[in-house]
Amino acid sequence: MYDYKQLKPLAPSELYTLRKLLARLLGTSALPAVIPGEAIIGIEAIAAGLAAPGRKVLNVVTGPYGALFGRWLERGGAEVTDMASGFDDVIRVEDVAAAIERERPEVLSFVQAEAVTGGTNPTKELLELARRHNLITVLDSVSAVGAEPVPMEEWGIDFVAIGAQKALAGPNGVSAVGVSARGWALLEANPSAPRGSILSLLDVKPQDDPEAPAPPNIPVLEARALIEALQLAEQEGLASVQRRHRLAAQAARAALVPLGLAPWQRRESGYAPLVTTVRLPQGGGGALERPEGIVAPGDGELRGQLLRINHFGANADIERVAEAVETLARLTGYTGQSAAEAVQAARDVWGGWA
Ligand SMILES: *Cc1c(COP(=O)(O)O)cnc(C)c1O
Repeated sequence: MYDYKQLKPLAPSELYTLRKLLARLLGTSALPAVIPGEAIIGIEAIAAGLAAPGRKVLNVVTGPYGALFGRWLERGGAEVTDMASGFDDVIRVEDVAAAIERERPEVLSFVQAEAVTGGTNPTKELLELARRHNLITVLDSVSAVGAEPVPMEEWGIDFVAIGAQKALAGPNGVSAVGVSARGWALLEANPSAPRGSILSLLDVKPQDDPEAPAPPNIPVLEARALIEALQLAEQEGLASVQRRHRLAAQAARAALVPLGLAPWQRRESGYAPLVTTVRLPQGGGGALERPEGIVAPGDGELRGQLLRINHFGANADIERVAEAVETLARLTGYTGQSAAEAVQAARDVWGGWA
């Protein structure tokens, strides 16, 4: 039965523990803001806080979340230039460099990794480029954190939204936004930034005080679950959690070869460790109505074009990947020898690293 004692208010020490765990996760000494809701609220709050009439933003769009972010910025009066890649490719650094020269933006925003397309952008290189031009940088790292590094200070990230429900196997009801010192200064200096609103980052700016009372709007059970998920990740070691995701992705890709299948993403450097997307053969075959285990149909316009293997969180595991490979073999009409070969190819990758 449900234990109602768990509902006792979040103690200041619990909130402080949570903030410290989030700060370590993001490699920053500044305590991140805890967002009392799912990660998309943090993303919308960043857009609302940054948007100002005439502020120029170069917004990279490699999937649906980037497109949404651009619209939210425009709503606040920002001048947004969207820069899109095909959904089967990630953005190229040289194209972003050319766009920066052309547009002279103040802000560069992009999604680090896309669960929908299985693509991961050249994040470190994009941030180096942004630093050379002294741009404010905004990342949606919801699908990256835990599977890939998100070192705020080392890479010079000003705003980053994260959630724990993807690679970190945590809850989806509370999330976080990391903000640099100059990010906070920018919000404070922006009269258009919301105040007294669920979209206000300024209202959830943390104090570095272990005794500060927890705001009553933080979901208590979700916050406790997040603390636990982050502690488990620290126990395993963040590097090991990331490696497990890279391995799961590598194992999944190795299995595609004997099945005569190919990754959806065109370039190897763009393969995300969170999710492997598989290009469906032309002329049909392999289509899926609803998810089977960790194999899922493409979202939206990608339905019928790709399959997703959602090997993240607790599913970044060879047994889950092996099941997914069998499902894939069955869906695309391979049985017997090639299916067994494909599973073996996945196991060889995983075992080769163990
Ligand atoms: C999942 C995801 C989100 C949304 O997270 P929610 O917690 O479901 O709101 C945002 N951006 C990216 C890139 C994601 O993969």
